[in-house]
Order: sequence, then structure tokens, then C-alpha cells
Amino acid sequence: KATLYVVATPIGNLEEMTPRAIHVLESVDVIAAEDTRNTLKLLNYFGIRTRLIAHHQHNEEQSANGLLELLRQGKNVAVVSDAGYPLISDPGSVVVKKVMEEGFNVVPISGSNAMLNALVASGMNTRHFLFYGFLKAQEKERIRELHELKYYPFTIVFYEAPHRIEKMLKSCLEVLGNRQICLARELTKKHEEFIRGTIEEVLEIVDDIKGEMVVVIEGCSEEKNPGEDQASPLVHEQIKTYI
Ligand code: SAM
Repeated sequence: KATLYVVATPIGNLEEMTPRAIHVLESVDVIAAEDTRNTLKLLNYFGIRTRLIAHHQHNEEQSANGLLELLRQGKNVAVVSDAGYPLISDPGSVVVKKVMEEGFNVVPISGSNAMLNALVASGMNTRHFLFYGFLKAQEKERIRELHELKYYPFTIVFYEAPHRIEKMLKSCLEVLGNRQICLARELTKKHEEFIRGTIEEVLEIVDDIKGEMVVVIEGCSEEKNPGEDQASPLVHEQIKTYI
């Protein structure tokens, strides 16, 4: 039976491409990429000559149907994104769902992921954590989302675009208060850096921080939680149990 491989690719350092990922990309019939130009660079670096097609987020439904048709024809397909794991703040979820529903195999191929690298070097609680991905770009919506996360008692990991980091941190300060954070930038690259401090401290230097970033924020502590009337019963139960 045909297989859809969900292949993680490097988030910067090409040495993080695994031999298994190279082998799979060499041996499938088609590679479906978020951006074919980006993926072509990766394929050229490893001398991989497999046929490449586009799998865009904006036409994911249509594109997923095309990939499904290839699988029906017995072709093996690999889906990749520009960096890290497909489906993790990247396209791929539509095709995986459709492919599973038709009974084809879905095989994940491990590799780099920005969230995990940031989390394990952040110094924050890793026993329980929430990966939130991107907050909304629009301020009003972002504030509303942060209110939903306000009493979550464990570490929260966000992705953010470099040009929005200051606005995002200001919203976090406004809603969550002046918590400890870790900005993990340029992960796996030459200028990889972890900037730790309170949100206010980091905001003071944020103008000088460039590149791709993951934002890791400490969870709500018991002292900061203002009272039972404001948090949901579920969150309260967690606070009592784990902190
Ligand atoms: N699929 C990817 C993964 O598995 O990590 C995430 C893709 S998402 C579109 C891009 C975001 O991931 C960036 O805005 C940034 O927050 C984070 N990111 C990706 N590569 C990174 C890197 N090398 N250093 C720091 N953050 C990175």
C-alpha cells in the first residue's frame, strides 16, 4: 500500500538532516513541499533528484486531493515544510487527515523542531508544557487568546515572526504580567542564543534581537493567581495538584 511520509527537515543547520530522512526523500516518487525553491536548496545539498511539487497552505485542500490521487495510483509521497516538522505551525494537516481516512499509511520521519530545542534549553519546567504556536497577529485577538492562557500553570511555548516580537511581548506583559521568559533565537545556527529574563528586561533590548525566535514563558504561579472566581475549575485542579 502507498505511504505518505511526513518528513522533518532542518531548522537551520543542515547537519541535522538525518540519514533516514535523506533515504526517504531519495526513495519516494514525489516530494510535496511548502516552498519548492527552499526545498530544492536542501535537495541539491544532499544530491537528491526526486520530483518536487508545491503543497501550499493557501490551497491545501486542493493540493491534498492531488497528493491523495498520487497515493491512489500507488505512488509514495513525502511531505516537507520549509523547516522542522510539517503540520507544526506549517501545512500538512489536511493531507494527513485525508490520507488516513482513505486507509493509506502515514509514517513520520523524525528531525529538528524549534519548539523542543527552545524548551529544553530554556531552563523552564519541561515536565508539563503547552505548545501554543503563533498568537494572532491582530492585537485585539492576541489579547483575547492570552486571556485564555493567563491561568495555565505550566510553561507555554510560542512561535513568533521577528517583526512582531515586540508587539507580542508587550501583549504578554499586559495580560500575563512580568513573568520570566526565554527567547531562543537562531536555533541550530551560528548565532544561536538564549536570552533569559523578565518580559520587561527582554523588552528593553528587543530592538537589538534579530532572527527567528521561539518565546518560552513560565506558567502562572499560585501566588500570581488572584482567586478561584477567575480561573476555570480544571486549571485550579491542576494548580493544586502540581505546584
Ligand atoms: N515547522 C517548524 C517546526 O517544526 O519547528 C516551525 C515553522 S513556523 C512557520 C516558523 C517559526 O518557528 C518561526 O517564526 C520561529 O518562531 C520558529 N523557528 C523556526 N526555526 C527557528 C530557528 N532556527 N530558531 C528559532 N526559531 C525558529
